[in-house]
This record gives sequence, structure tokens and C-alpha cells, in this order.
Amino acid sequence: MGQGLSCASSSYEHDFFAAVQAGDLQAVDFSLREDPSLLLRTTIYDHLSALHIAAANGRVEVLAMLLDRSAIPDVVNRDKQTPLMLAAMHGKIECVQKLLDSGANILMFDSVNGRTCLHHAAYYGHSDCLQTILSAAKSTHVTDSWGFARFVNVRDGTGATPLHLAARQKWPDCVHILLDNGSLVCASTGRYGYPGSTSLHLAARGGSLDCVRELLARGADRLQRDSAGRLPYEVALKQNHGTCAALLNPSAAEPLVWPSAWKFITELDLETKALLEAALMEGNKEREMKILKATTHSLTSPDHSEKAFDDDISEECDAELCSICFDRVCTIEVQDCRHQMCAHCTLALCCHNKPNPTTLCLPSPACPFCRSNISRLVITKARGAGDDNNTSKPRRSRRFPNCSESSSSFKGLSMGSFRKIGCGSGTITHSSDILDKF
Ligand SMILES: [Zn+2]
Ligand SMILES: [Zn+2]
Repeated sequence: MGQGLSCASSSYEHDFFAAVQAGDLQAVDFSLREDPSLLLRTTIYDHLSALHIAAANGRVEVLAMLLDRSAIPDVVNRDKQTPLMLAAMHGKIECVQKLLDSGANILMFDSVNGRTCLHHAAYYGHSDCLQTILSAAKSTHVTDSWGFARFVNVRDGTGATPLHLAARQKWPDCVHILLDNGSLVCASTGRYGYPGSTSLHLAARGGSLDCVRELLARGADRLQRDSAGRLPYEVALKQNHGTCAALLNPSAAEPLVWPSAWKFITELDLETKALLEAALMEGNKEREMKILKATTHSLTSPDHSEKAFDDDISEECDAELCSICFDRVCTIEVQDCRHQMCAHCTLALCCHNKPNPTTLCLPSPACPFCRSNISRLVITKARGAGDDNNTSKPRRSRRFPNCSESSSSFKGLSMGSFRKIGCGSGTITHSSDILDKF
């Protein structure tokens, strides 16, 4: 990227640009007082303005001073790159924020690959910059005219979306943020990579297991082929990414997919969402262990511990055990009925609804205890010291409407059935089948 100071036209200009690069606020201020036109000068070769140099080097104080003196935020260099693009490439989050606050345009395209600031943040894996740009995009006039969904899925000159770039460059955090903001998981590229590649093909090519996991958990299709007819599985095999290939094998068990169709899922508060996402990833990792054991690839995959399950119990001995699996503590409360269960059972309930074959409507999951509609899912509140029923022993449940009858009827839905649901090999238990047991 070389945002250095190649060839300023005079040593006087060179000193000014050097002071900007070094973040020497006093020297920059002095030079600008002497010659305000320095604000408009650029380096000879790359056509970098002082604003570009400050942004690329993370000199937020200098950047702020230049903007205060009416530097134009969207000035472009030789490659039609804005200071915002350079800040996003170099991961200079404070400069990204400052430029956005100053009204920098998020929808400018450079002349190298026709990329926006969002592409650059995704390509270089700066998830904080990516998140900040997306947050800003929700409130700018650009998305008013363009639409936020269209912005998240903006294509560069080769047809690549930010998601394609993040998947190819192996940045799972960026992949996660983009999917969370409405990136289309099954979109294929134009010319980028191999024509017609999906993000799953690109993650398979890069061999990023974490990206493959993220994409599968958001419903990426293992059976979608690129223009040459190749499956992501074949791409991973060809690149010798054995573990990725095992998960991408169309005959391997289906992963749990984040149930984004439900309103109560899209409206989750951040804390509850993080808890359910972690449970989803854990469920999928359990499934992965089985897949990997069954393949000849004996590559060890990180983070396959079941520690979290044990920790749940040992750390929170005061909490109630989930009455569905009798294995984990209740962490999720269903509203409005206030029944409680663990995050894993909540996901099992939400992930496996299939469309009604005649109407193609997804049946909405209901509370497994009372069958009432779920309006919201929240984290169970830890019971405070002032709670007068508080005892120090773990309890089975305090939320059964008809306690004795219910606890026996839940035995059929032990943890084993969650695992069976989670692996879904061949026959995935329909959630209404679960409900019918009640
Ligand atoms: Zn449970
Ligand atoms: Zn209920």
C-alpha cells in the first residue's frame, strides 16, 4: 500500500507531510499557518493529501486539525482512494470514526478494484472498522438512497462482496459481523476467485475452519456449485484442507443453523444473542467432533473442549437445571410466560422447524412447557440476595405449571435427544415432534 512520502515537490512540503505522518501537531499547525495552501497539496507520485497520510498512519489529532481547517474528507489519491479507505485498510479505527463523524462518503469506489471502504476493512480483517462503518451506514443518507442491505452486499469491480473478501482472507470475525448485518451468504462472485464462487468456496480455498463454521451456521449451502461445477467440498480437498473438507462433505451431518427467521431472534438483546450464538457454535463443534472422528483425517480441531458444559454447572450451583436436558443450567427465559431452559435446548427448539409442506410456512416455535407464543427471549436474571426463596442448592425447576406431571413427561427429551437433533443425521426431529411429546 506504501502510503509513504515518496517525492514531495519541495523539502518544505516534504517536512509538512513528514510532520503529518509523525503526528507532530505543533509542526503541522506551524506549517499551515505559514502556508494554508499546504492543505490542498499532494505527494507527487501517489497524490496523497495530508489527510490521507494522517488517516493511514492513525494520527487522529492531526486528522481532526486538518478537518477543522476545512480539509475535504473525500479527497482522493491517484487510485481514487479516500482517507476513509486508507484508515480502513490500516485498521486505524479512531481515524475511521473521525472521518465518518465529519461526513466522509462511505460509498466511494477506488480505481484499483472498484472497492469501497467496507471492502477494504473486510479484506484486511479490521473488524472494528467494519463494524463502525456499518453502524454509520445505518444513519447516513447513502443508505437512505441505496438501502442498507444493498450497501452491505456492495460488489467491487470483480463482483466480490465484502463477505467474499473476508472469507477468502480468513477473517471469521469480519465474516460474522457481515452475516449479522445481512450479507447474503449464498451470493456468488463475478470474476473474483473462480467465477461463480460463493463465500463458502472462498473459505474452503483459504482453508479457514472458523470461516467455514460461521458460514455454515448462517445457512451457507454446501451443494452450491461454482461456474466450473465445483462444490466447496471439492475446492477444500484440492487445497488439502482436510478438516474443512470433512465439514463441507455433502454427506456429513447438517450443522445447526442460526434461526434468523424468527422475530424474537432478530430482536434479541446483545447479551442473550451472544449466549445463544455461543451455544450454537458449541452444538456445532460437538457435531464436528463426530464428523472428524468418522473421517480418516485425524487433524485436531481447536476448541473442542466440553469445558463450558461443566463450568455451567460448577460455577452456578445456585442456578436451576434445565428441565429438558437435566444437564445444563437454565440461562434463557421465555417471555411472556417466563418459563426457563438452557441456551442449547432453546436453540434445539428454534433451529429445526421445517416449512409446512403444503403452505411452505415456517411454524413458529412455541414454549415447550406451556405452548404459548414466544414474544421475547432474555437471559434469566440471577436471583439476588434479597430473593426470599433463595436457597443454596441447585433446583430442578420452579417454573412448572403442573410440576409433578410435567417433570416426568420431559424425560423423553433428555440431552441425548438434543444431541440427536443437533446431529440431524438422516432424520432430523421436527420441532413439532418435540412439542407433541408434551
Ligand atoms: Zn437444556
Ligand atoms: Zn411457557
